[in-house]
Amino acid sequence: LAKGMGKGGWQRYQSDLAHSMVQRLELRTQLHEAIEDEQFMLQFQPIVELADQRVTGVEALVRWQHPTRGLLGPFHFVEAAEENGAIVGIGSWVLREALRQIAVWKAEDPQTTLRYVSVNVSPLQFRAADFVQQVREALTEAGARPEWLLLEITESLVLKDADKVVQDLRALRAIGVRVAIDDFGTGYSSLSYLRQMPVDVLKLDKSFIDDILTSRQQHALVDAIVTLAGNLDLAVVAEGIEEAGQRIALDTMGCHYGQGYHFAKPLWPAEIPALTTVAVPAALSA
Ligand code: C2E
Ligand code: MG
Ligand code: MG
Ligand code: MG
Repeated sequence: LAKGMGKGGWQRYQSDLAHSMVQRLELRTQLHEAIEDEQFMLQFQPIVELADQRVTGVEALVRWQHPTRGLLGPFHFVEAAEENGAIVGIGSWVLREALRQIAVWKAEDPQTTLRYVSVNVSPLQFRAADFVQQVREALTEAGARPEWLLLEITESLVLKDADKVVQDLRALRAIGVRVAIDDFGTGYSSLSYLRQMPVDVLKLDKSFIDDILTSRQQHALVDAIVTLAGNLDLAVVAEGIEEAGQRIALDTMGCHYGQGYHFAKPLWPAEIPALTTVAVPAALSA
């Protein structure tokens, strides 16, 4: 490692390493106070119907407005927050804030194309004994209907602790909350477990979408998953669509929904209404 580095280079390397370790430790200890100081913010990324590109939902994505380091994405802190438990408080805030926001959008524009907000739930958060109750309370507090909420959980959650998870998923769906498997395809992906899992939506990971135009095998794989999902009555959202060709290919396969930079990046709340209003025909607005 140190080979080819002068003595000064090695020392610089060591001090950089120490510096970044200190930074990571600092971030960790700051996570809890960041909740109390309300330093977290949400961006929302549109989820569209592939056929007509209408915005049908938005995914809430957390950001941390750090006092000295600026705006940080989840890559910088979600893993640490999982490890020290801060994700439970952060996740609870995200859920309440996302529901508050969609209730505002629905009230401001009763004709909005927006049907739901999608919220990422960390395994630690979901495993809380009273998670279902927390969701109920968050809905009531926000004045939001259960149909307005889609919860995104991960494959790893589903595979561990299956009994409690299945029971909670049933309870959530019984009140009308829908559930998605996020990043589908990156985990263990035993397709057979899908049959037993009470979920409504599969979010196909970006890594599956990336090569559908360049690899026939990848195209065939995604095509097969979309067909299987359809047969199991699951809706599919393709993540990370970056070009028109991918949208067209997925639409042709029968994949109904998509998300990605091709349509929109994650946006601040004020930017959403313009994308979800049904335009008044010119003849009527005159
Ligand atoms: P995710 O849930 O799979 O969210 C999608 C991520 O892909 C987002 O990154 C989004 O900005 C990015 N993305 C969307 N379209 C494209 C595209 O076309 N190209 C590329 N290159 N990227 C695209 P982001 O916001 O950095 O979030 C990363 C991950 O952090 C999320 O992945 C999710 O697992 C986690 N996360 C975000 N918010 C929360 C939260 O509130 N709670 C928890 N537990 N995790 C969260
Ligand atoms: Mg997600
Ligand atoms: Mg995802
Ligand atoms: Mg993903």
